[in-house]
Amino acid sequence: MESFTFYNPTKLIFGKDQIQQLPDQLPQNTKKVLMVYGGGSIKKNGVYDQVMEQLNKAGVEVLELTGVEPNPKLTTVHEGVKICKEENIDFLLAVGGGSVIDATKTIATGAKYDGDAWDLVTRQATPTDAVPFGTVLTLAATGSEMNAGSVITNWETNEKYGWGYPPFTNPNFSILDPTYTQSVPRDQTIYGMVDMMTHMFEQYFHTPTQSPVQDEMIEGVLRTVIRTAPKLLEDLESYEHRETILYAGTIALNGMLQMGYRGDWASHNIEHAVSAVYDIPHAGGLAILFPNWMKHNLSVNEDRFAQLATNVFGVDAEGKSTKQVAEEGIQALRDFWTSIGAPETLRDYDISDEKFDTIVDRAMKRGPFGNFNKLHDEDVEKILEMSK
Ligand code: NAP
Ligand code: FE
Repeated sequence: MESFTFYNPTKLIFGKDQIQQLPDQLPQNTKKVLMVYGGGSIKKNGVYDQVMEQLNKAGVEVLELTGVEPNPKLTTVHEGVKICKEENIDFLLAVGGGSVIDATKTIATGAKYDGDAWDLVTRQATPTDAVPFGTVLTLAATGSEMNAGSVITNWETNEKYGWGYPPFTNPNFSILDPTYTQSVPRDQTIYGMVDMMTHMFEQYFHTPTQSPVQDEMIEGVLRTVIRTAPKLLEDLESYEHRETILYAGTIALNGMLQMGYRGDWASHNIEHAVSAVYDIPHAGGLAILFPNWMKHNLSVNEDRFAQLATNVFGVDAEGKSTKQVAEEGIQALRDFWTSIGAPETLRDYDISDEKFDTIVDRAMKRGPFGNFNKLHDEDVEKILEMSK
């Protein structure tokens, strides 16, 4: 294992009706709260009313920033920063999925920064303070509710980057009520499960160090998601399966599975470049790209891919070469994602090779990337070609 320091300051509050704990979680003397949310799903499913009821109980003044878009835009972050500065907001509450939470993180730090918040996202400046914030999660996917990451898109330059700066971009608390996710539509439910699985794969494929504990944990959570996914898709309102998937999404990317590993993260980088050019759902892009990243990198460490194949996908290794087992595992993942309705090729989003040069350029902006295997221009090009 690599040396590591694990610190996660987010208080996780999980379970039905736990929204009642909200007033007690606000820092003492909170007067003005900016509630940040998306396109209105929380108004339809009743979450808005439940959150408001608790904020009213807490006796705080509430302002709202609404309309945070999936793949949140820098322009929306600017709007939030402006409100925070003009209104002296002393707490931010994100109510929504990863997009709302990610936007809130950059608003929180941007509000205490004199320049453009984009400087923080591009790491040209580092935050020195932040408005504290908490979250009420409504979609199981990103793990943003319990990590420091924030992914923001600048549509003027077609750039989408992930950044983060603990502890300023870590939520103070996150409230996760599985019933809040029962209204998530089928497609977003599928994307969420693909995203959390890919987070686990990204961590599984890392530098050559070994940690049997981490391996078993990742493999266990992956098997759980694979077992639960078809049952949840059969019954989108199942509390039991929503609960399992919600918890899995948080565990997948709250740092627990990455202790002692650095993870790879190349596929996320390529996907961010794709969705900076074409505004497609994050995990739709991952479902297309990740199996091709696997094929492209198979020769780097066949044993690792074979371990995944046997331990997660139950591939029978008897009488087969390591490579064969590994390849069957990659195919099993592709088949599983196809079986739950995830996209397979860029064509599924009407994306041709027309803008591959721009995508490669955006992916390479910060230089060669990936810890399992460093990818250069030609690697990204090949993975995109395989994904057509
Ligand atoms: P999302 O973009 O937050 O939400 C997707 C859609 O689901 C929205 O249209 C939203 O509608 C709807 N929705 C959310 N909750 C719902 C509910 N309970 N019922 C009905 N509809 C609901 O999806 P996400 O997958 O959570 O976030 C994706 C973003 O996170 C991407 O930008 C990705 O790059 C980023 N990301 C971040 C991390 C990280 O660690 N920070 C990791 C991976 C990905 P409304 O807008 O109407 O609410
Ligand atoms: Fe992701």
